[in-house]
Amino acid sequence: MNPIARVTLEIALRKEFDYLVPTELAGRIEVGTRVRVPFGARQVLGTVTALVESSPHANLKSIVKLIGRPALITPNVLALARWMAGYYCCPVEVALRSVLPEAVRKEEAGWRERLFAHALPVQGDLPKLTKRQLEVWNLIEEWRELPLQELLVLAETTAETVRRLEDKGLVHVGPRISERDPYARELILPSQALPLNAEQAVALGRITTALDGQLVSPAPAAFLLHGVTGSGKTEVYLQAIAHTLRQGKGAIVLVPEISLTPQTVERFKARFCSGPLQTLVAVLHSHLSSGERHDEWHKIRQGRARIVVGARSAVFAPVEPLGLIVVDEEHEHSYKQEEAPRYHARDLAVIRGRFEHAVVVLGSATPALESYHNALHGKYTLLELPQRADDKTMPLVRVIDMRQEARKDKGTPILSQKLRDEIMNRLERKEQVMLFLNRRGYASSLQCPVCGYVAQCPNCSVALTYHRGDQRLLCHICGHATRAPNECPDPKCRNPAIRYAGLGTERVEETLTKLFPRARIRRMDSDTLKRKEDYRRILGDFRTGRIDILLGTQMIAKGLHFPNVTLVGIIYADLSLHQPDFRAGERTFQLLTQVAGRAGRGDVEGEVVVQAFSPFHPAIQYARRHDFLGFYEQEIEFREQLKYPPSSRVALLTLKGRNEDKVRFSAEHLRKELERRLAAIKGLVIAGPAPAPLLRAETFYRHQIMLRARQMPPLSRELTRLLEELTLPEDVTLTVDVDPMNLG
Ligand code: ADP
Ligand code: ZN
Repeated sequence: MNPIARVTLEIALRKEFDYLVPTELAGRIEVGTRVRVPFGARQVLGTVTALVESSPHANLKSIVKLIGRPALITPNVLALARWMAGYYCCPVEVALRSVLPEAVRKEEAGWRERLFAHALPVQGDLPKLTKRQLEVWNLIEEWRELPLQELLVLAETTAETVRRLEDKGLVHVGPRISERDPYARELILPSQALPLNAEQAVALGRITTALDGQLVSPAPAAFLLHGVTGSGKTEVYLQAIAHTLRQGKGAIVLVPEISLTPQTVERFKARFCSGPLQTLVAVLHSHLSSGERHDEWHKIRQGRARIVVGARSAVFAPVEPLGLIVVDEEHEHSYKQEEAPRYHARDLAVIRGRFEHAVVVLGSATPALESYHNALHGKYTLLELPQRADDKTMPLVRVIDMRQEARKDKGTPILSQKLRDEIMNRLERKEQVMLFLNRRGYASSLQCPVCGYVAQCPNCSVALTYHRGDQRLLCHICGHATRAPNECPDPKCRNPAIRYAGLGTERVEETLTKLFPRARIRRMDSDTLKRKEDYRRILGDFRTGRIDILLGTQMIAKGLHFPNVTLVGIIYADLSLHQPDFRAGERTFQLLTQVAGRAGRGDVEGEVVVQAFSPFHPAIQYARRHDFLGFYEQEIEFREQLKYPPSSRVALLTLKGRNEDKVRFSAEHLRKELERRLAAIKGLVIAGPAPAPLLRAETFYRHQIMLRARQMPPLSRELTRLLEELTLPEDVTLTVDVDPMNLG
């Protein structure tokens, strides 16, 4: 018997507390059980992290309540959370908080119980009923069982009538769990495994061999599946999952939030909705209601859903036993969580696979430099699908030099002559066009050509973006909004000819409407998507041909498959190229490749027009030639020279506060501490402190120190100690981002 439970609490970090297990809960509390415990005058939620025989403390209080059985956090997920806390330098409780969806953790949204009416068997003759009662009874009998609310609507009757039938012993009304199904309205048609082409068969063979080998050798088995867009990676995932299910194990499929379209989810549901491997496919992402999330999660925990498709946090799904984790589009930045715990779901997937002897498959057309490096150095096994599965050719990519266009046109046009002509061709041929610009709004800034005034956010060190639709200036960092002025606001200037510089999707839309007045044009960015269904609706309209030109931000770049799109235009490819970030080139290469992959997925060959002011930049040129390896080789050289990942590991320390002097002073103090404490770390480089690229955000000043080292774990350990011991002024906070993706 273990009378004492060690508990982490959500409100007290970096500490654990001991509680007695009361007799009525004896034997029901396990490691990973969520509990409610007294803390001071109130009660709080926590997680049992250990069961112990004795405690160094006297007068222990008792656990008040147990939440969820079996334990919500499995030992495997607990181990992963502990690893995450250590590696990403965050308290265990913060790590634990992110492994359960809030709806499950807070036990607020429980199962939904609804009243159901169901027909009871009739012995002998039907008792005497009024005409109305008979009609209602017939309806219930026909359905056998249906929710009371639906019955009342269907039969246009009242609860009173139903109660009469209940009194006569014909009907029973009682509560029942009614599961919420976020995809209830989708029609799923079963699909069959496709015969694989030679490359797919080799890839699947390697993966299934690893799946079979698990029992014999517990070596980490991680694969990098590098396959061009449309090469049939998803078919390989599906068949690997089938193999996993046959072994009696489950699978997790991570996809970027943005690709969690009904289309993607459907492919997984369709394959496993019938037949001998039939299982539920649970879906976890942020667009579910908390009730839906609760139900999906419990379907997994109960073992009814053996496949989980989800965004980043689905890496924690309680699939037991776990056989396979797939990380699709593994290079995607949305796998990194930008708040504590600042984990990267791909990297956690690899760790989880190692812990649970599960096979991990990372898939991408443009692998992250880190992943490809790992594959070349034997950490992952490289699998290649160099051809499109459907025998479509790769789209032709043309790069337009916008400097030339500017000379021709006296001023830079938004659309080059070439792109205008090609759009016109497509409209005439009734084919579809996707245009892409990674900046929403109308203009990137408001400038006065006379006095040089630029409208700045009062809270952040960025220019405000002009949104024409609602005549506002918006900050894209903090959301600050003001009315757009119609003259220069400087009292000494008051120039009425104030100008908008740079462009955003709203302005491109305006230009398109002028140039192609008869085309059906839709803009898709976070400004036009106000409601949850908007995204689905617009994509649905595009698929069914009710839109000719779809214009959008990165939202439309990924994972979508529209056979009638034969032209993709990239309005301004340089936009992501000149960011102050060592991954700017890589990001541009990935973006162009992904966007280009949207063209020509049907019967007609696709074409891509890329407009750029630096057309000869390697990121653009290698993307034009669909040459990942070429890009990798030149980019890795640059990373090695400057000691950036993957040739080193980075931790980014950011100090934040409202008083800039204090922030700067604290950063200098921190640097001295780091020099003193980290002397033993191999190959350590300390850069900074320096103002962050975005010095001021949401009224906070930010200064940074970048640490580079050969290996992360020893550095993580020292940084965790530092976080516990360092004293900073009260209004200055320090965050540590291990393996940062965003250097801003
Ligand atoms: P990826 O995930 O690599 O982008 P998909 O799995 O979406 O590629 O495949 C692209 C298209 O090729 C899909 O329409 C898919 O049904 C088809 N496909 C995949 N594998 C095969 C195959 N072996 N034979 C025929 N068509 C295939
Ligand atoms: Zn702002």
